[in-house]
Amino acid sequence: MQFFWWGYHIISLTQEVNGDEAYVSRRLGMIMGEAAVFVSIIGIGAFYVIRSFYKEISLSKRQKNFSLSVTHELKTPIASTRLFAETLLNRKELSEEKKQSSLNKIVQEQDRLQQLVDKILLASSIGGSNQKLSIKPIALKEFVNSIIDSNSYYKNIENNIETSLILNFDDFYMTSVFQNLLDNARKYSSEDQSIIIQTKMDSSYLYLSFLDKGIGVPDKEKTKIFEQFYRVEDEDIRSSKGTGLGLYLVNEIVKMHGAKIYCQNNTPEGSIFTIQFKLENVKKSSASHS
Ligand code: ADP
Repeated sequence: MQFFWWGYHIISLTQEVNGDEAYVSRRLGMIMGEAAVFVSIIGIGAFYVIRSFYKEISLSKRQKNFSLSVTHELKTPIASTRLFAETLLNRKELSEEKKQSSLNKIVQEQDRLQQLVDKILLASSIGGSNQKLSIKPIALKEFVNSIIDSNSYYKNIENNIETSLILNFDDFYMTSVFQNLLDNARKYSSEDQSIIIQTKMDSSYLYLSFLDKGIGVPDKEKTKIFEQFYRVEDEDIRSSKGTGLGLYLVNEIVKMHGAKIYCQNNTPEGSIFTIQFKLENVKKSSASHS
């Protein structure tokens, strides 16, 4: 319609071309201005439509990958615990040692299931308006040590956090943050590669970093990995277990604490995940030895 309108104006202007030159050029200027605004609006609109189209496609792909991986993550422990339980039931002649090992496997698989269910429940509740944090001052190094000791999977970890640091946070939510970062550091590196946890401070922030020597995160993925369901590579070609929920939860919880998290390259290889806490949440106890 707009193009017809301009066509009409231009035709009628050409009929007036022998008339008032100043009037014709004023009208032409007006038509050109109108056209520029119109084309820019269409351009901006098209940009947003295309952008949200690609966002939708990428979200639906991530959701599909999430369903695939959750199905896999649920099926595997269910099938293997059943297998171990059946073996225990049907093969009475098994040695005590074998029975013990099957029972341990069942407990491990149940723990995995529990972790997955907890993650999904936390992800569905997080970000809600009635999210209440119970913030209290906690000795950071001891807190991280208790998490490391709680799971035999957390091997080869150096906790170099300064001993005197007391940080204000919600222990329930922050446990999930530290567990997810340690799970990833362990999952994406080999067991013999050590993981280092360290702190640094400047005049405004406390930086708590988790350094691993694993496969690393490509630069173009460094911010995307914090999106919900996002996993590097496609489900069909990836071999590691996961749901793409861990870092999403980590990022949301860190934000709830008024802090920030980012990912950098470690040298010569691996990644560094750093949480940047405001200094107003940090205290140093007087018994200071790092
Ligand atoms: P998940 O590990 O379940 O896939 P996350 O949200 O925890 O989901 O992580 C998202 C993606 O970020 C992972 O799929 C992985 O590709 C990448 N990633 C996370 N932590 C690390 C790490 N320490 N080293 C290398 N890649 C990582």
